[in-house]
Amino acid sequence: MTSAARMPVLFLGHGSPMNAIEDNAWRRGWAEAASAVPRPQTILCISAHWETRGVGVTAGASPETIHDFGGFPQALFDVRYSAPGSPRLAQRVRELLSPTQVHLVPDRGLDHGAWAVLGPMYPEADIAVVQLSLDRTLDPAGHYALAKRLEPLRDEGVLIVGSGDIVHNLAAVDFRNPAPLDWAVRFNEAVKQRILAHDHRELIHYQALGADAEASINSAEHYLPLLYVLALQGPDEPVDFFNDDVVAAISMTSVRVG
Ligand code: ZN
Repeated sequence: MTSAARMPVLFLGHGSPMNAIEDNAWRRGWAEAASAVPRPQTILCISAHWETRGVGVTAGASPETIHDFGGFPQALFDVRYSAPGSPRLAQRVRELLSPTQVHLVPDRGLDHGAWAVLGPMYPEADIAVVQLSLDRTLDPAGHYALAKRLEPLRDEGVLIVGSGDIVHNLAAVDFRNPAPLDWAVRFNEAVKQRILAHDHRELIHYQALGADAEASINSAEHYLPLLYVLALQGPDEPVDFFNDDVVAAISMTSVRVG
């Protein structure tokens, strides 16, 4: 393997798909985060928007752009993010996650959890991207343990990006009113405090965190990518927050580890 510098790991709060095409501070925050890390050789993305039974990785050489949403302007459906895939990285992920069985999925493209953030970060689309699915048969501790096995990739030039939202409850969002909801802000702060204290246990067993957690984490697919990123934090590694905003019941708060 290469002797690349140890790559940081990023969790990105992606919010609305519109952030992929609107010029706003969050999108600029993603671009700045990309320019502040070494240029990756490849990217491994764990997105809220690919849930499976069993673990899957995208394994095609030219993944298509998936428009996995409805009710947005045509401009968003016109976005194509033409980054190549990396069957080699897919294979490497499969090797690292063994003995867990990993399914190579050659015809799966990139969902908007990946391209909405990677587009602003790497607009040239010249870095290969592989996605790892969220195996919904695992519990949160299972996701965290699985993620730990990806750690060698950080020394192989791979930028690991978790893409979700710490707080995500669309049913609680009034789309005409972006004012942050009290419980959403409280829970976002509670998570940040635990991240700063390196208290991953409480973040894995979030059900014990009460009503704010229940409302904020909801169906959990947007929260789980955070656990992948935290699992890769070394004992003395610093964390940094950016895009630290809550919109209604969606958190844009993003985390850099290392
Ligand atoms: Zn999403």
